[in-house]
Amino acid sequence: APGRPFWVGTSWKMNGLPDDARSYAERIAAVDDWHGVLPFVMPPFTVLADVARLLRDSPVQVGGQNMHWDESGSWTGEISAPMLRQCGATMVELGHSERRRHFGETDETVNQKVHAALRHGLTPLVCIGETQAERDGGVSDLVLARQVRLALHGLTAAQAGRVMFAYEPVWAIGEAGRPAPPALVAQAAAGIRQELDRAADAPGASPLLYGGSVNLENAAPYAALADIDGLFVGRAAWTAEGYAALARAA
Ligand code: PEP
Repeated sequence: APGRPFWVGTSWKMNGLPDDARSYAERIAAVDDWHGVLPFVMPPFTVLADVARLLRDSPVQVGGQNMHWDESGSWTGEISAPMLRQCGATMVELGHSERRRHFGETDETVNQKVHAALRHGLTPLVCIGETQAERDGGVSDLVLARQVRLALHGLTAAQAGRVMFAYEPVWAIGEAGRPAPPALVAQAAAGIRQELDRAADAPGASPLLYGGSVNLENAAPYAALADIDGLFVGRAAWTAEGYAALARAA
């Protein structure tokens, strides 16, 4: 949106062995002008500390792709907010549709994780989006409003304004995804923005990003939308060159 900071971030999902992760981080650490864009990368846990160390003196923020709501304890296989912080993360992605679909993530667990992230000084990036069936059934706006409300449940208005969101229509994500028409994104984003403004203490406080099959060819019309404050990119940003080119284009 004009006049507000613009974010460009990527989640590597389950990609990035140490050598590739380091060379990606070194390449984007060498970018000397981000032209006002706020950059962030979300690598897998196993390389997060390495990537964060290589990006320490750059404007690029680093985030985890998930975390647990508790600080420590008997939660085999999980990672906590303090662990992410210790690795150098400042952000955490929560509620991605792949986690909701394959790993049982719910609006309730996302909400618990949002609280934990804020408690520990991590900026949560909550992913929301309707499925194709929900869109066909005409309930997209209801679904999106409900996902926002439940993610922000129990937060003060000041806290709610510190939560970032990514609108990612489930049918637009990944290999099987089709890019969403910008007009559809504009309409959905306006509804989400209304809901965010109800929860936060200042209009426009919560950054709202768009994600789903964004690439160099289709990025500009999304970036130009009034209610969109950034792009959240998967596949097209899995190389340092791809990511840097998208940040430049935005
Ligand atoms: C995502 O899964 O968050 C995403 C935006 O992926 P892609 O860009 O690959 O569709």
